[in-house]
Amino acid sequence: MNHYVNQLQVITEESLISFITCPYKFYYEFLEKKKRPYDWRQIVQHVVNKVVSSYYQVPIEQRHSGKVLSLIEFYWDKVSPQIFESRIQYYLVVAKMTDCLIQYLTTETKQIPPLFLFKRFNTYVEELDVDLSLTFDVAEWSESSFVIKKYLLEATPEMLDLYFHLSIVFSEKVLKRSPQRMEVVTLMDGKKHVFHPTVGDIEEGLTYLQGMKLLIEDSSGYVKNHNENECPVCPFQSICDRDGRKASPKKYYS
Ligand code: SF4
Repeated sequence: MNHYVNQLQVITEESLISFITCPYKFYYEFLEKKKRPYDWRQIVQHVVNKVVSSYYQVPIEQRHSGKVLSLIEFYWDKVSPQIFESRIQYYLVVAKMTDCLIQYLTTETKQIPPLFLFKRFNTYVEELDVDLSLTFDVAEWSESSFVIKKYLLEATPEMLDLYFHLSIVFSEKVLKRSPQRMEVVTLMDGKKHVFHPTVGDIEEGLTYLQGMKLLIEDSSGYVKNHNENECPVCPFQSICDRDGRKASPKKYYS
């Protein structure tokens, strides 16, 4: 593996998540652009996004647990049990997802649909000298408040940290406004993570992203940061050169 990745031109939420999961995974997926097979987590997350997006768009009087159930039934219909590691896992995942979506979506009482629903933004950030790309899943905006929400299958503390930093920097740069509150619901453990940004968080967010960019651009650090725990379920196992045995002399560009 080449030790220096040429200067990054674009950083996306997905690429950063891949990087903090395992730098080698990021390398194969986003620099070498190797195709990876879809796994059950991606497919279930896609279903969750569809249910959330549809639910927020129905009129308030139709928003209740029955509606959540009918949307899940509709979007879950094409999910094959074969993509899961076992039948038990298939049933557990759908049960937890259903429980949690009913619990949190039915408490949403705002009459007006969110201003942004799964809207992707790109912007150049001068301090980072890079284009940033982020999707606002659910963003409620009024004169007096700005709240962003996300429904994820699961998230590690590092992913939550990343998401909060990225959202604050992004909100300031694109919308010229910081959110009053950010909420991330993690469906597999049923938790809601709430974060209230303060004035200093924009600087902290920029520092965090500058640090990430440096880490990404110097691949000599990948070996010490790679994540052995991910290896058993990693789609790049057969080509991964984390131990140097399959090192390639190619030069890589972002
Ligand atoms: S096999 Fe392991 S070290 Fe290699 S990319 Fe996957 S998770 Fe990272």
